[in-house]
Amino acid sequence: MRTPMIAGNWKMNTTVSEAIELVNEMLLGLDKIDNIDKVICPPFISLAAVRELTKGSSIKLGAQNIYFKEKGAYTGEISPLMLADLCEFVIIGHSERRLYFNETGKITNKKVQAALKVKLKPILCVGEKLEENEAGRTEKIVTGQLSASLAGLGYPNGLIIAYEPIWAIGTGKAATGEQANETIGFIRQTISQKYGRRIAQDLRILYGGSVTAANATEFINQPEIDGALVGGASLKVDQFLSIVKQAAEIRHCLSG
Ligand code: PEP
Repeated sequence: MRTPMIAGNWKMNTTVSEAIELVNEMLLGLDKIDNIDKVICPPFISLAAVRELTKGSSIKLGAQNIYFKEKGAYTGEISPLMLADLCEFVIIGHSERRLYFNETGKITNKKVQAALKVKLKPILCVGEKLEENEAGRTEKIVTGQLSASLAGLGYPNGLIIAYEPIWAIGTGKAATGEQANETIGFIRQTISQKYGRRIAQDLRILYGGSVTAANATEFINQPEIDGALVGGASLKVDQFLSIVKQAAEIRHCLSG
């Protein structure tokens, strides 16, 4: 059975002291919830402080981005080696990076490779725009993003995929559980064709896009969905704890 995961993407929110405060508020509650991967992805500048606070707890950390070069004259960038010491996961190809920073499939591919080289686990985001969804092109878009991002890679051990329809991110207009389940099932099939059935069955695929405490169960209850990548609601302690609890409870039920 795949271990469910709830990952909180704080995006460009919280100063270092606000990040410390937020972690302190959720630490005990989160730490107590078992049988689920609980990941928080604060801004780069807070990773070290959050790592200190979460040391010895069951909370895992992720970064929100990575550069693909090891080191050198790349002012302002953060290398895989710098992150490897600080966290276990890294979000790659988030739609906001694709949209505002022109990240192409070629770039996400280099980033996935760079992350894996230092044993960081990529949370690779894919998803379609509203007009693509309405034109019935979701599967085509997602297939293109997957094949570009995973081009030339033997099985990327540790990979996690997040299906995030762009029209659902930060809009309050989530997909339905059924819609998300269908596309995630399709992603699993695509991975199965590329890497084989066994690998596809073990791969964790999350849903992301306006997940809240009120709708989390609808997604986590679906057979293909292994958890959620949560943006806005991950900054609210009660919301985030409730989403994680719901996911852990559903898993307990499923595993009997
Ligand atoms: C995200 O940032 O990946 C996300 C899903 O955001 P939100 O939950 O706010 O829609």
